[in-house]
Amino acid sequence: MISDTIAAVSSAVGEGGIAIIRVSGPDSIPQVAALFRGGKQLTEAPSHTVHYGHIVHPESGEVLEEVLVTIMRAPRSFTTEDVVEISTHGGVISVRRVMDVLLRQQIRLAEPGEFTKRAFLGGRIDLSQAEAVIDLIRSKSDRAFSVALKQVEGSLSQQIGDFRQSLLELLAHIEVNIDYPEHDVETLTAAFIKEKSGEAIAGIDRLLKTASQGKILREGITTAIIGRPNVGKSSLLNALARENKAIVTDIPGTTRDVIEEYVTINQIPLKLLDTAGIRETMDVVEKIGVERSKAAVSEADLILLVLNAGEPLHDDELELMEQIRGRQVLCIMNKMDLPQHLDKGQLLQFFDESAIVSMSVLEEEGLDRLEEAISELFFGGKLESGDMTYVSNVRHVALLNKARQSLTDAYEAAEQLIPIDMIQIDVRLAWEQLGEIVGDTAADSLLDQIFSQFCLGK
Ligand code: GDP
Ligand code: ZN
Repeated sequence: MISDTIAAVSSAVGEGGIAIIRVSGPDSIPQVAALFRGGKQLTEAPSHTVHYGHIVHPESGEVLEEVLVTIMRAPRSFTTEDVVEISTHGGVISVRRVMDVLLRQQIRLAEPGEFTKRAFLGGRIDLSQAEAVIDLIRSKSDRAFSVALKQVEGSLSQQIGDFRQSLLELLAHIEVNIDYPEHDVETLTAAFIKEKSGEAIAGIDRLLKTASQGKILREGITTAIIGRPNVGKSSLLNALARENKAIVTDIPGTTRDVIEEYVTINQIPLKLLDTAGIRETMDVVEKIGVERSKAAVSEADLILLVLNAGEPLHDDELELMEQIRGRQVLCIMNKMDLPQHLDKGQLLQFFDESAIVSMSVLEEEGLDRLEEAISELFFGGKLESGDMTYVSNVRHVALLNKARQSLTDAYEAAEQLIPIDMIQIDVRLAWEQLGEIVGDTAADSLLDQIFSQFCLGK
């Protein structure tokens, strides 16, 4: 594959001890060598060696920066091409001085994700691994990081590969028997199709079951904190976030907008949404807030309904409880420090005992119980630390669902003894859909769309 030579800063933007500029492409070594003064000729340097020297201006010879240069020759590099990594001092100035002279050579600035795209095109990683690199860069919790890391290492690719191998064997079997349309063979083949597609469906189901946990680990549990004005929603959000991002006041209805905050509770990332108090109102500004909080409720994975234990249940709250029936809800009886006027028996008509948490945000009482209830709810107490492969990417989930459908069609057709050349089409489709996950059958436009999500230098 012939491609041009590209360069970009690969370390994080901002002040750091060192910065790394990555250059990749067939001409990367001679192009950098033309700017390098050191003990050794870079063009002669063996792969995986590091060289101390200076980057100089190609015309004036002026010394621009003191550097360490690492040579990695094709195909043993991240992109599978010749790669030169230049370590410079951290800071904007030194990086810019080196980038400036590099781009005066036969080198162009890399597009976002272009290094990873080359790694994919060079066959070093498959598509699901490339996507996992995006997740790694963006991951918001330690757990999400390890899930993405496993995917980079290829655990999902491995499983998809196994499914496809088994479908390929099935296709081969069908192919052979298509030429023998005797009744016996046909029945045997149908049984074989049912067995194999049934196995594949079960495997896909196992993967899909991890999808909701995978999404949670990646994006956080979307958690809406709802309730009437002044019950303590913003105070709770602040207590959970241990930062004062939401404004806490004594005036009802100050939280006009939905405020988002990321927190991690027992390793579970939560995206907290503090909604405006839910209640019918003529106040236009608050009405917008109320609309937003209804939207927040509908998209939430978890709802924290906050009530004031110092007051009897309000009609608005009864209505609200009706509205969120059947959802994942924790009911919080806040303000336990005040004289109690809330009837818990009434709450028990709506919620399990275990879903009701009494606390006082003001006196920092009961927060630990709430945190326990949250992790209990989502992971039966604790996150599994085993070797599970999580599917966390929406594109993968959609394709797994499609493949599952195709296999179900094949299964049902086999049951009804529909001619096997018809069934073959469905099996083939499933094989292709699974292939799209790892990029075997992915179209170019899809590739561009995926790789454009990367940041520069990756
Ligand atoms: P929101 O409108 O639901 O967001 O309520 P805020 O968080 O703004 O709180 C309203 C008022 O209730 C503030 O004065 C808080 O200090 C107070 N508050 C919050 N939690 C408690 C609590 O547990 N006990 C008492 N006594 N007051 C609380
Ligand atoms: Zn508030």
